[in-house]
Amino acid sequence: MDEVFIALLQLARDSYNHPMTITAGWRCREHQLELNPEVPNSSHTRGMAADVRCISSRENYEMAGAFRHGGFTRLGRYFQIVENRAQWTHIHIDSDPSLPEGVEWVGKAR
Ligand SMILES: [Zn+2]
Repeated sequence: MDEVFIALLQLARDSYNHPMTITAGWRCREHQLELNPEVPNSSHTRGMAADVRCISSRENYEMAGAFRHGGFTRLGRYFQIVENRAQWTHIHIDSDPSLPEGVEWVGKAR
């Protein structure tokens, strides 16, 4: 994993001050292509990203704040549909310098 990414993640973790469950970190290119062939060069394949389990709205709010406080400038909130309702699944954060900074997005979990 990228050293800058790990340093930011530790700052965010210290700020959050609760356990965090990382559900995805580094991915090999083959696994990335299986998960999402539309994004073959994900920052996960370069060790600059993680997905952190986040299933409640309060967790989402507080964890996103901690990631911003830790210095992350790229954050994606992901959900799945369960019984016709959106359910948060995880927050993706990355520190990929080749991608735009200061962005947040919402996506459907795969
Ligand atoms: Zn991710």
